[in-house]
Amino acid sequence: MEKLKEALTYDDVLLTPQYSDVESRKEIYIGNFLGDGPKIKLDLPIISAPMDTVTGPDMVVAMAKAGGLGIIHRYNSIEEQCKIVKDAWETVETIGAAVGVTGDYLKRASRLVHSGAKVLCVDVAHGHHKLVERAIKSIKEMLTDSTHIMAGNVATLEAFNDLADWGADSIRCNIGGGSICSTRIQTGHGMPGLQTLFECAKTDRPTRIIADGGIRTSGDIVKAYAAGADFVMLGSMLAGTDESPGEKIVTLKGVQKEYRGMASKEAQLDWRGKFSSNEGVSTLIPYKGRVEDILEDLKNGITSGLSYSGARTILELQAKAKFIRQTRASLIESSTHILGKQ
Ligand code: IMP
Repeated sequence: MEKLKEALTYDDVLLTPQYSDVESRKEIYIGNFLGDGPKIKLDLPIISAPMDTVTGPDMVVAMAKAGGLGIIHRYNSIEEQCKIVKDAWETVETIGAAVGVTGDYLKRASRLVHSGAKVLCVDVAHGHHKLVERAIKSIKEMLTDSTHIMAGNVATLEAFNDLADWGADSIRCNIGGGSICSTRIQTGHGMPGLQTLFECAKTDRPTRIIADGGIRTSGDIVKAYAAGADFVMLGSMLAGTDESPGEKIVTLKGVQKEYRGMASKEAQLDWRGKFSSNEGVSTLIPYKGRVEDILEDLKNGITSGLSYSGARTILELQAKAKFIRQTRASLIESSTHILGKQ
């Protein structure tokens, strides 16, 4: 057996503050091209997850309006998913949609692109898989190069490079790190989210890196970019908003909305009528209001983060970033820790 490797995640590290000549956050630009192929530029490098309690009709429009990207979930009929794309297309053009790797996925992919989707996301839990190779290659063969192919999820450099070589333009990185995910508990497999980024960032392929899952704050987002991510994908941070699908529910804890993993028993029962391996949970989270306000807060936190490293772009942040390990005592100090004595 190989020597055990140490693997770090967001709370294990901090970025060392550095000399900065950034006088105003207005000097900072965090936008990026989604790939070297189809020229899709996101002014806000944030993508909403293809989950049925995150990205539906309202979220896809709100994400595009804010400069980001929404990936419409695939837990619906082809007609329903295409209608969401078509309805959004009058208002916004940067629309992503997810497809699977079995059944009618090719028909779905083709119909989605003809309805106006610019990004197709080959969306499975374990992306380093024969069926993903077949799906990416057959979608590429069927469509023109003007469609961006996102794929995932992966946890290793080897997987990242394989998906890139199969034709993925961007890759979702992280297995088992999502807030609603129980993959690591169920299967014993995974890799801490930040470590996945350190590993995948060693790639020599031009394919974009998407940090997906386990991101809870703008501080985590800054760490993800600094570790090599070009974009982040968010689930829980965008769930519970006006724009996420689902009704508000009044409970003893206040107003809440449902947020659930797509491999949770509840989601599988709703979409397939049965469940097999249960690798996610379903829960209620506080209702948060408009997603636009959340994205604005995140943007402010991110730009402030770049200025602490003296960087005006994410590329500059990646070049300058200095990570340090923090101890458990430091982690406590790093969170707000007033002793409840106000
Ligand atoms: P979050 O931002 O930490 O809430 O994580 C969202 C991410 O979790 C998604 O983008 C998916 O990669 C992943 N995910 C979604 N549903 C499940 C599930 O049921 N099990 C495991 N991972 C999931």
